[in-house]
Amino acid sequence: MPVSEFELIDRYFRHRYQGGDQSANLQDQRFPVAIGDDCAALIPPEGEQLLISVDTLVESVHFPRQFDPAYLGRRALAVCVSDLAACGAKPLAYTLALTLPVVEEAWLAAFSQSLHTAADEFGISLIGGDTTRGPLSLSIQVMGSAPPGQALLRSGAQAGDDIYVSGALGDAAAALACLDLRAPSEHQQQLLNRYRAPSPRLQLGMALRGIASAAADVSDGLAADLGHILKASGVAATLQLKALPLSEALLAEAGVKAVDYALGGGDDYELCFTAPVMYRDEIAALSADLQLPLTRIGSVAEGRGLRCLDSQGAVYPLPAGYQHF
Ligand code: ADP
Ligand code: MG
Repeated sequence: MPVSEFELIDRYFRHRYQGGDQSANLQDQRFPVAIGDDCAALIPPEGEQLLISVDTLVESVHFPRQFDPAYLGRRALAVCVSDLAACGAKPLAYTLALTLPVVEEAWLAAFSQSLHTAADEFGISLIGGDTTRGPLSLSIQVMGSAPPGQALLRSGAQAGDDIYVSGALGDAAAALACLDLRAPSEHQQQLLNRYRAPSPRLQLGMALRGIASAAADVSDGLAADLGHILKASGVAATLQLKALPLSEALLAEAGVKAVDYALGGGDDYELCFTAPVMYRDEIAALSADLQLPLTRIGSVAEGRGLRCLDSQGAVYPLPAGYQHF
């Protein structure tokens, strides 16, 4: 039996607002009107400003064809929520515009479950969307909040600031070569998990309010995303190649190519940020608190451009970041 558009929305996206444990969402005072009306209504926390971002994920461009729907929901939402993390925003709500070639219930069940599980983990509620037919693509608009003036921007880096990155870099890019393996090794499995189920650094972003002078999430590769910070801030930077945080799995799988994955590979969704030198102790304490490595990888200087030095002090060539056009 083919499912109508409205049944589909009810069954896979709206059902969370009805009955049982999920009924709390219906009465959630932040969302007096949610899925089912022409618009959703949203009341941000008192005195805070809304921070909004939208991302589109197209099959074969942003995720491979036949990508497992049990990972797609999480990956899509994580990619979008990562922009909230980069701004130091607290997640609030999201909308989903879903374009499907066919209505396949097993696919929808797996996709929506992975989406809702991730949404619960990130603390964000689905309040509306749109459903259409066409080549598979997802547009997710995320909304979060922060006190006015406290959002982390790309434009605040100052000469003399330290540059940090969270977690490890390059894993997701190295995972692309492992996507079709029938029996991935343990290391390959670790890389694959980083690609399929990224963890947006929400707690870190919020904790960096008032500490970081600038921040961005690493979606296109460290060189490209740090490049955006430098351009927006009108400054230059030097990175130390030997300081880049590389996972054991990446070193084992990629060998000498590991640093190129770390500098040029996207999809890690770590945060890259700058901070005045006086915050070193606070950042070390934050790293311990969050149990998340925060590695100092270089420093900001006056001027323009980004360079990376190897352990001999020689300039290491930077890979270009991913560009759509
Ligand atoms: P309209 O024609 O007024 O745009 P729709 O028929 O597109 O309304 O959607 C009906 C309701 O279902 C709206 O409240 C909309 O926000 C919601 N909705 C539609 N598609 C989705 C989806 N994929 N996820 C969540 N909510 C959805
Ligand atoms: Mg509509």
